[in-house]
Amino acid sequence: MARLSAITPSGHAHVGNYLGAVRRWAREGSPGDLYLVSDLHAMTTPYHPQKLRARAREMLAVLVASGISPDQVFVQSDLVRELGALTWLLECTCAYGEAARMTQFKEKTQGDGKAAVRVGLFTYPVLMAADILLQGASEVPVGDDQAQHVELARALARRFNGTYGEVFTVPTAVTPPVAARIRDLVDPNAKMAKSAGDAPGVVFVLDEPDLVRRKVKRAITDSLDRLEYRPDDQPGLANLLEIQAACTGKAPREVAAAYSSYGTLKEAVAEALIEELRPVRARTLELLADPVELDQIRASGAVMARERGAHRLESALRLAGVG
Ligand code: AMP
Repeated sequence: MARLSAITPSGHAHVGNYLGAVRRWAREGSPGDLYLVSDLHAMTTPYHPQKLRARAREMLAVLVASGISPDQVFVQSDLVRELGALTWLLECTCAYGEAARMTQFKEKTQGDGKAAVRVGLFTYPVLMAADILLQGASEVPVGDDQAQHVELARALARRFNGTYGEVFTVPTAVTPPVAARIRDLVDPNAKMAKSAGDAPGVVFVLDEPDLVRRKVKRAITDSLDRLEYRPDDQPGLANLLEIQAACTGKAPREVAAAYSSYGTLKEAVAEALIEELRPVRARTLELLADPVELDQIRASGAVMARERGAHRLESALRLAGVG
């Protein structure tokens, strides 16, 4: 049984990624699991090539620095030829109506002039299906927003197998228990998300300790002066309590009971985050400073992932009457 998880380098890695996903991957993953830096998925909207390259590298370094085995990570674009070929086979298996039903595409294109939207944004769920099916992943841990895409991968695997011959493992979407859902410190109604700029409400894994302190100090709370865990009424405070809970292994309510003012809680959150990120930040910077080691990890990841997928791609091309 192999699980495939991905992180898209559309911005710098932040504590939402780390506390919500990467840390758990490192702690709870099995040796057969795979982690993919999905740089091709970061190209569906306008982007900057050099930044994309640098962020893919940074994500790879963060995954390894967080404790994920270098044998289990790879960068998606290192398999661009294989994935390009398989995506085409799957696009020729996918009905237009099926792709057009994807809620995420519909949401992301609402209000936009449709003519300006990249075709890649429309077809990227098929590329995601190729990621999953090429590696023979049986389980794909996803949040609600991606479950429909895994359903599409399931449907395409079944249809391809049924039409041309058995090649693909039919994957299942699994919903991991929520490790932590971190919100933006300045806009606690929004999820903390990767951002192109230096967002004041986002703590990045590579932020210097003083910057982390400043960001946490400026986190929006409320004027109720009531130190309780009430996510609906006090979302900013609840977010700080959840971050502290994720860093200390306590429940948010326990954390609330331990502090007497928002100020002391914020100081504790900043210090806990700095400590939590310290080793990851240090190792990431070390890896980024040593191109040889990171290049080697990347190259062997590419070989591993290519070899895993080679026989499936060959069989699929042969059965589809091409290649
Ligand atoms: P993405 O940022 O969409 O590439 O997601 C990479 C991983 O980080 C996924 O498993 C997401 O569920 C997780 N993630 C992203 N943002 C947050 C957040 N604010 N809180 C918790 N988990 C998050």
